[in-house]
Amino acid sequence: MLVLFKGHFCAPRYVLGAKMVLRNLNCPICRSVHVLPLTNPNAQSSMISDGAIVPRPLGKASCNDCGHGFHVEPIQDNQLRELYGDAYSLGLRDKSADADRASGYCEHISEHLGSLDRHIERGHVVVEFGCGTGHLLRKISQKWQPRRLVGIEPAPKLANKARELNGKYVEIIESYAESSVPLVKDADFAISVNVIEHALDPVAFLKTCRDSINERGTILVICPDGNYPHSELLFYDHVSSFSVTSFERAASQAGLKMLHSATLGNGQEGFQLFVLAPDGSAQEPSAGSAASFQELSEGRGRYLKGWATLEQGVRNQIGSDRYAIFGIGEYADLLSAYCPGIIGAAECFVVDNAPQPEYRGKPLLSLDAFRQEKPDTRILAAVNPRSWKYLIERLRSGSVVANHPYEFSELRSAL
Ligand SMILES: [Zn+2]
Repeated sequence: MLVLFKGHFCAPRYVLGAKMVLRNLNCPICRSVHVLPLTNPNAQSSMISDGAIVPRPLGKASCNDCGHGFHVEPIQDNQLRELYGDAYSLGLRDKSADADRASGYCEHISEHLGSLDRHIERGHVVVEFGCGTGHLLRKISQKWQPRRLVGIEPAPKLANKARELNGKYVEIIESYAESSVPLVKDADFAISVNVIEHALDPVAFLKTCRDSINERGTILVICPDGNYPHSELLFYDHVSSFSVTSFERAASQAGLKMLHSATLGNGQEGFQLFVLAPDGSAQEPSAGSAASFQELSEGRGRYLKGWATLEQGVRNQIGSDRYAIFGIGEYADLLSAYCPGIIGAAECFVVDNAPQPEYRGKPLLSLDAFRQEKPDTRILAAVNPRSWKYLIERLRSGSVVANHPYEFSELRSAL
């Protein structure tokens, strides 16, 4: 699911006295100067999408005119290549979850293309940009059996997994998207799931999609939903947080018109889907009136500030109580990156069924064992706030004292 495009967005800085002032910080999509730099949730570090910690602050900003989220200082392509080196492992860590997600995405693709009467047929050519471990290609091949099915994936480890999973019927090209256009032209569908938010230049990425399809072709893009603040904002390698408006503008700059947009449910909450087609009119939609996305920018600011004060809030409330962290997924990774003191002071990790004896150098216990061995230890749940209401019932019914870290911070309204 890797892709690289060079960005050209300048954020010149001028030092006035001792205070650094940001000037001419433009939105990379609509060029507005009405942008709000956002609080860093940790001054030293941030996290990328496979859970690895990078020694750089998050450094995001938000556009008040189109709702686009972006980096104050654009990431350079050599920095991104470093992040996505051989160690990058998204999709390899939890293969069954990757397969389940692919099933869910395939259902959404089928439903939304169907609603537009744009069906994938056996005679069609379908290309997926950033195919990762190839689970979605497998689902597409099983459901529609298109004439030619191509996956583009630059990370060698992931491309090999995709080949192993799909066999000879699916063509896996180990390449960055922009180098792949001569290899895939005239496709009927270009699909991309959770890739565009990583592209250094999302307009160039969409142009590549545009160049790969024929004039009647269809592009379907799924990416994190940037229309409200949530964890997607905390990923350092999410170069773009798209509002519907900022996505439509990027598409228009790539010669595409938006046919359809939707937010996803059924297990894919937090993601949005766009369907695009070639557009000859070259009319760019308006960015929205000045400051029409100010509320979104301020909400993003409050969200990141909430994360910046989370560790202190937990410390103030829990004091010297013994506690365990429930969960070893994305939220445990986020706590490690942004609130390392919370993870550091935990006694152990707990999950429903422990797949291994240790995690991050601490004991990892199954919930039943935890209840028996540590009845006086409280639980802090490192889970998505959406899951918390279900988890809390299970944990508290077993008389365990359990809290979500958000309860001790300004993020409590998200629970
Ligand atoms: Zn903008």
